Amino acid sequence: MLPPPGSSLLVQPLPEPAALARGIRLLLVRDDLLHPQLPGNKWRKLKYNLQAAQQQQQSTLLTFGGAYSNHLAAVAAAGKLAGFQTIGIVRGEELARQPLNPTLAQARADGMQLRFVDRTTYLRRHEAAWIADLQRETGPAYVLPEGGTNALALPGCAELVAELRAHTPFDYLAVACGTGGTLAGIVSGLLPPEKAVGVAALRGGEFLQAEVRTLLQPVGKEDAAGNWTIHTEFHHGGYARFSPDLLAFIQTFQQRHGVLLDPIYTGKLLWGILQLVEQGYFAEGSTVVAVHTGGLQAWAGFRQRFGARSAWWPFPEPGE
Ligand SMILES: *Cc1c(COP(=O)(O)O)cnc(C)c1O
Repeated sequence: MLPPPGSSLLVQPLPEPAALARGIRLLLVRDDLLHPQLPGNKWRKLKYNLQAAQQQQQSTLLTFGGAYSNHLAAVAAAGKLAGFQTIGIVRGEELARQPLNPTLAQARADGMQLRFVDRTTYLRRHEAAWIADLQRETGPAYVLPEGGTNALALPGCAELVAELRAHTPFDYLAVACGTGGTLAGIVSGLLPPEKAVGVAALRGGEFLQAEVRTLLQPVGKEDAAGNWTIHTEFHHGGYARFSPDLLAFIQTFQQRHGVLLDPIYTGKLLWGILQLVEQGYFAEGSTVVAVHTGGLQAWAGFRQRFGARSAWWPFPEPGE
């Protein structure tokens, strides 16, 4: 079982000029502070999955992820904390021949067994036959899909909505989307007239609409007419891509609010929300709440890949 999160929900006002000018109350849920090793939505998505794994008397968690995956890092940390063996199937055979990047090094340090597969093989990550083959090699395991997104990921994310409502009434709850599992969980926890807004972190995020509907079907919320939307135009080039503009925005945001956003998800979320504010998307007088879902472990890899070598890298190097 996962230990309970260390802190209760922290909600911070964001006095952004664009929001103030339009009479919009903009707030940030600091879910990044939820748990030191398991920040934000990854803790919430794993919570009921780990309970299920325990009920099924599984001692091993097996999951999938890319080279810099927040989910792999979270599963490795969860396994260490909750006493499961962990196996990570990593996309990219070549990664095994290089020094491990900071994400994978930390996952291994947390006890995760890493198995590297080539990109074509990795495409089979949803195929039951391949997953069964894998378990013939690794032994039986509780299988978590990529990103930890499955039916049991939803109730943990829905709890965030209830915690927020107990804290303050709101009109919009906004979250960054990778697989859409977190957004689906949030939608499943909404009460009318509350609305959810997703911001896709990847290019071509239009598929997320169907994905979220499918995830909502078992809880009968897929037709919750018009109470959620996904915005796909704020990806800055695609998943794990970024622009100098985005990094400068993250730096300004940190100076203004004392909060570091991550480069893959929450930087794009806050950028997108402020664009929508300026476009008049939110009615005057409304309360808009963004969720800081964590993801800060990604900075170590970004710094290693781009930091010292880029003229426009806006962050001080460690020790400066
Ligand atoms: C994984 C992740 C997301 C995306 O969650 P999904 O449920 O896959 O949409 C958002 N923010 C952060 C920081 C994440 O690590």
